[in-house]
Amino acid sequence: MARTILVRLNLDIKEKPIGAALRFNAAVDELRKISKPNNKVVILSHRGRPQGVEKKLSLRPFAPLLSKALRKKVVFLDNADLNKARKAIEAAPNGSVFLLENLRFLKGETENDPKLGRALASLGTEFISDDFATSHRADSSLSAITAFLPSQPGNLLREEVKNLSMAMGDTKKPFVLVVGGAKAKDKVGVISNLLKKADLVLVGGAAANTFLKADGVDVRDSLYEPEMVETAKKLMRSGKIETPEDFLWDGSKILDIGPKTAKTYAAYLRGARLIVWNGPMGMFERKKFSAGTAAVARAVLRNGRAKSVIGGGETVAALGLRKQVQNPKTNIFVSTGGGAMLEFLAGERMAGLEAVFKDGKKKRKK
Ligand code: ADP
Ligand code: MG
Repeated sequence: MARTILVRLNLDIKEKPIGAALRFNAAVDELRKISKPNNKVVILSHRGRPQGVEKKLSLRPFAPLLSKALRKKVVFLDNADLNKARKAIEAAPNGSVFLLENLRFLKGETENDPKLGRALASLGTEFISDDFATSHRADSSLSAITAFLPSQPGNLLREEVKNLSMAMGDTKKPFVLVVGGAKAKDKVGVISNLLKKADLVLVGGAAANTFLKADGVDVRDSLYEPEMVETAKKLMRSGKIETPEDFLWDGSKILDIGPKTAKTYAAYLRGARLIVWNGPMGMFERKKFSAGTAAVARAVLRNGRAKSVIGGGETVAALGLRKQVQNPKTNIFVSTGGGAMLEFLAGERMAGLEAVFKDGKKKRKK
């Protein structure tokens, strides 16, 4: 078989506005690097959480969008019959690029079924995983497939691991961790894992309410997680956790950090040399409660001396982050991972990474 690269990419995004999508641009970058006149490329990806075949979650709309971005025809391939797909790939001339239908339409994909892994592997001669955002999952197209083909991480995957690993090393001080967003539960793992390395943890958003509650503050009807209050208390004993000193209320609910807190947090961030930020400081979708997040964003973006790593679906949306922030000339790295970034920073083992990084098991084991 002619050299045929199977590449796992993340297209778990909305079609519009496609130009702004961090993940779409990352996928196009990788395709530009690997698609050559003397090889064939088959894109493996998924969208959403379909139960069987759900046409509205088809990857088909991405074929013309990718074609346009690559200035190269991208042929959509159904995946109901993988034998038929393989024949189409084999018959195609070198230089061809294919996009295979949503892998989660297939039974076994999310169960890491080796049979499906083998069937997918039969479509090509080598495998590249560049889907960081799904790397915390053991899916057939990320894990099982690697048993049947020479496999390696793609460029984005390497970049993600390199940048996120910085937070685990201890090169740059002071290291300020900023944690906000909705669910304290998802974020506590990150705080616990990085607490030794971090000099300061600034908490905001609804996540802060859990810490405020632990500190004896009456948060009234604000969103918080009762079952996380004890954990929050323990973490606060480190003396490194900074909670908001003032808030913006909507009736009996805290929906943003207050102006004093925004100032204090911005000052800490100006002095930082390593910043890791996940989670908005407030309900930024409502303009009235967006100032805290905007203040933190400004402080991070203006700190030219710090290395900054930012991630989280809503956090990135709040920043209005576009391609220019991923510019290698700036010292800001924007992660494409949501849950994957949180698991990585929490020091958890990630099946999709272990599968393609040979020494991954040793490295990521705690
Ligand atoms: P990310 O996607 O960046 O990881 P999360 O998903 O954890 O962030 O949380 C983002 C959501 O948290 C936003 O939609 C925002 O409206 C909400 N949020 C932030 N602060 C509050 C608050 N004080 N009360 C309720 N919701 C909040
Ligand atoms: Mg989110």
